[in-house]
Amino acid sequence: MPKTRFQALVESRNREYATINETGKRSDLFGKHVFNEEKMLQFLTAEAFDKVKSAIYQGNKIDRKIADQVAEGMKAWALSMGATHYTHWFQPLTGATAEKHDAFFDILPDGRAMEKFGGAQLVQQEPDASSFPSGGIRNTFEARGYTAWDPTSPAFIYKTTLCIPTIFVAYTGEALDNKAPLLRALQAIDQAATGVAQYFDKNVRKVHATLGWEQEYFLIDKSLVNSRLDLSVTGRTLVGSFSAKGQQLDDHYFGVIPARVLGFMSELEKECTKLGIPVKTRHNEVAPNQFELAPVFEEANLSVDHNLLLMDVMEEIADKYNFSVLFHEKPFAGINGSGKHNNWSLGTDTGVNLLSPGTTPMKNLQFLTFFVNTIKAVDTYEELLRASIASASNDHRLGANEAPPPIISIFIGQQLSDVLDELEGVSKGKLSPQEKTELKLNVVGKIPEILLDNTDRNRTSPFAFTGNKFEMRGVGSKMNCAKPMTTLNTIVAKQLTDFKKEVDTLIDKKNLKKDEAVFNVLREYIKTSKRIRFEGDGYGIEWQEEARRRKLSFNKNTPEALQVITSKESYELFKQMGVMNEVELKAHKEVELGAYIFHIQIEGRVLGEMVYNHIIPAAIKYQNMLLENIHGLKEVYGAAHKKVAEGQLNILEQIGEHIVEIKKLTDEMADARRRANGMSVVDKKAQAYCNNVRPYFDKIREHSDTLEKLIADEFWPFTKYREMLFSK
Ligand code: ADP
Ligand code: MG
Repeated sequence: MPKTRFQALVESRNREYATINETGKRSDLFGKHVFNEEKMLQFLTAEAFDKVKSAIYQGNKIDRKIADQVAEGMKAWALSMGATHYTHWFQPLTGATAEKHDAFFDILPDGRAMEKFGGAQLVQQEPDASSFPSGGIRNTFEARGYTAWDPTSPAFIYKTTLCIPTIFVAYTGEALDNKAPLLRALQAIDQAATGVAQYFDKNVRKVHATLGWEQEYFLIDKSLVNSRLDLSVTGRTLVGSFSAKGQQLDDHYFGVIPARVLGFMSELEKECTKLGIPVKTRHNEVAPNQFELAPVFEEANLSVDHNLLLMDVMEEIADKYNFSVLFHEKPFAGINGSGKHNNWSLGTDTGVNLLSPGTTPMKNLQFLTFFVNTIKAVDTYEELLRASIASASNDHRLGANEAPPPIISIFIGQQLSDVLDELEGVSKGKLSPQEKTELKLNVVGKIPEILLDNTDRNRTSPFAFTGNKFEMRGVGSKMNCAKPMTTLNTIVAKQLTDFKKEVDTLIDKKNLKKDEAVFNVLREYIKTSKRIRFEGDGYGIEWQEEARRRKLSFNKNTPEALQVITSKESYELFKQMGVMNEVELKAHKEVELGAYIFHIQIEGRVLGEMVYNHIIPAAIKYQNMLLENIHGLKEVYGAAHKKVAEGQLNILEQIGEHIVEIKKLTDEMADARRRANGMSVVDKKAQAYCNNVRPYFDKIREHSDTLEKLIADEFWPFTKYREMLFSK
């Protein structure tokens, strides 16, 4: 039985927790539970070690004999660490991670027991897992799904299980997960960016996308969360009157971290460090009981895995400290929600950040090339980028007053805007020697190594350049970063491929020098991608109108935003870059729409239950209390009681009116749900849930929140905002 509000409050106030011990060097713990290069050197043959490294860095295949050797080494290491099980760790389209543990333990034909793990178990598994959404891919006669080892993300031990990061694909090869498309996108960007980087440095052999996420979250006492049906089932509060005090005073932001939270953070960080997640920054966020954690950035695939693993570890350790960690993008109305900024850049195997301005004109031309191409890519495919961050829960946040709007635009700051303006004036075709010198000295040469005005950033921009990386800010706190990272890397790969073709043509056909050709093409890009650049405040209606004039897409909700995934331009893009085919795109869209429908459906049901089983009964209890009082007054005062009981009568009447309204709205919502459920086309159904069901949520909430203010505190069943937000 769920805890009542008052039981939960008592429990939350009497929490005991150990004081923390933060001594010791973190670097000593780093990667202790990871089968990294150090362990490989120790546990693998020289041949196997070389083959795994060439698989990681050159993408070469690992044959069966080597796989057996690697498995043998991994097993020896895992057993030496006390592991008992192994699992393929994968990322089905649910957005979370999945695992199915098998014991190393096995019985030999002669009846003896031993621990077994071979190349076959390492490389490929068939977990069945047929209940995961596949968007129709697995409805065909060949419904098998396979997981296959991703050697670029090292195996690790979590608790007593050896976890092997894998992709999850159908028998026919289509991706059933978020990792396979990401790996393909990362390969595409490597190829495209390496080609372009070689204009500037012939030694570049590989380019990897980098990702540094910033994870925001809430920590609320476990009992308080469990006392609320909405929070515990849907991850957000569906009703709840605002607390008198919210985040107005900014007294939580960057404030002293509460002791219990610090205990949680400290233990979490230690655990992460052992798992090779390079956590670095922790602080209080803007909203009460909201926090943030950020790591040192890493190669994008590894970084995505680490973020997913982090979220699992966070839930585990939060539980130990009697907290629930909320990853939902908008758990509470009226205060900030949570996001997961994705900081993104491109790094070469020669150790250069391609989005970092350099010290020489040539380095800066390289910087400008990648900088302008990214802008151009985002301009061309802004709608796809918007689609990559669409979800039912993120709909509450995008466009609310703390997060970027659902219109994609790019902020680059004044200094770089000036540089682009000047570049735009470069003449077409061959450049005169003076012009070249002028460009090198005064335009390209002028880019400062540290871009000062980016320290004062525009927090409302969904895609901001922040000194040596772009920061994608619309990503939701709950999301798998693989989705936005797949899209971003694919569109930039496509753009760089086109760029290289254009530059090569100018060099070959027009006889231009390399730098002239680069300047020429960049100039055109700067001209044609201007509409995506926006330095202003993205909240207001003015920007929405301006964005419409600029023909930027403005998809307010998930069903609208997802449409573009199955457009012709999307099919062509993902196919050309070898990232996803039509079947996969259709399936992924269908899965997203399905998830949207389920989210709204569940919220609707929970809200209905709250109204009928908790809110109305609470209102009636208080009505009865008032009635009893009014009766008593009547006995004493007779006809004059009306004057004496005027206040009570008025409240009684108000409560009655709200009960009528809230019941009516709840019934109408149920009808709307029933109608939506009758629809068989998933697109239409999602739209119906969005446009016909969801609007009832706010209307119902309004009555509930008014009732919460009217009814005696002792009768209100749900833990109140102030009780959740200001408990420590
Ligand atoms: P904030 O945006 O909160 O002010 P920072 O700008 O210092 O914080 O950095 C935020 C994140 O950016 C960190 O997680 C960091 O790892 C990441 N980051 C820094 N450089 C890069 C890069 N070249 N590529 C990807 N991420 C990066
Ligand atoms: Mg940031």
